Amino acid sequence: MMTPELLRKMPKVQLHCHLEGTLRAATFIDLARKHGVALTYRPHGAGPFPADEPPADAADPYAFKDFEGFLLTFAAVSRSLAEPADYKLLAAQYLQDAIAQNVMYAELFVSPSVWRFFHKSIDVRACMAAVREACEAARESEGIEAAFIVDLTRNFGVESAMHTAKLAVEMQDLGVIGVGLGGDEAHYPAEMFEGCFDFARANGLHCVAHAGENAGAASVRAAVETLHAERIGHGIRALEDPAVVQLLVEKKIPLEICPTSNFLTGVALGEAPHPLVEIDAAGCVVTIDADDPAIFKTTLTDELAYAAEVAGDDAPLRFTRNAIEAAFASPQTKDRLRKRLDALSPEA
Ligand SMILES: [Zn+2]
Repeated sequence: MMTPELLRKMPKVQLHCHLEGTLRAATFIDLARKHGVALTYRPHGAGPFPADEPPADAADPYAFKDFEGFLLTFAAVSRSLAEPADYKLLAAQYLQDAIAQNVMYAELFVSPSVWRFFHKSIDVRACMAAVREACEAARESEGIEAAFIVDLTRNFGVESAMHTAKLAVEMQDLGVIGVGLGGDEAHYPAEMFEGCFDFARANGLHCVAHAGENAGAASVRAAVETLHAERIGHGIRALEDPAVVQLLVEKKIPLEICPTSNFLTGVALGEAPHPLVEIDAAGCVVTIDADDPAIFKTTLTDELAYAAEVAGDDAPLRFTRNAIEAAFASPQTKDRLRKRLDALSPEA
């Protein structure tokens, strides 16, 4: 039986966590005050984000009602992060929270195209260097390893995505190992970004994509067949087409599933068990993460506890083993992670 204490102590791997989405609410309020920006982002006129959200309540700046509202919240959080010192603080607090739940290895999404949208002259490289510095310090003292996947962000279009892919290639010396594709999946399909992904892959980066979250199974197929995504973020709407589920099973493409995120953005319905149960039963490779844990008021430990509740007591270990195999870590790191997990449960 996985007790809450055992779950907290269990060595963990994060494959779907947006660094900006780990910003603690109190720190968001401090940074927004420091830079004189509102807790809500409401674009004027046409822009990449929708415009019908009520102002955020300082008592709960992370309240939102649907997927578009979530994107606006993520935008507001990103706007509060304006300079390298802010990113260093963000990373340091993320690391504290990760170490507290025994995360040993993390591939974190960062979204520099969103940073640039709000701060035209931001020095992306300096911000990444600040994040990297915090991660290196934690690696030396606590053994936690972190790498970065640069999100190309659908909403800003192809030109911005290509610019960001080039930045990603140039930041491999700062721990960038891949590109991803988040944002408005319904209006900016994978096909638009094929060239950006080809470019990133040709320059040594791994490729992953959010798909089957805010659009259906065809979007998952496009992420696999057109972008050659090695993992799919969410992917739960693959269930709308058995042939796409079969494609994921055959190609052994891991899914990074984040239950609370799906419930809060309305992608999954709260009254039914999360679709991860059906995805798992179909034979797909399931991994679990928390997406934007601070914004969604959850943790990886909480998400794994939920997985145990709906998919069985063995699910946290099983899905963590899947995450180790699905990670882009070195063979040595994977071996170290396997040994740590074996030490926790010699019988597993
Ligand atoms: Zn995500």
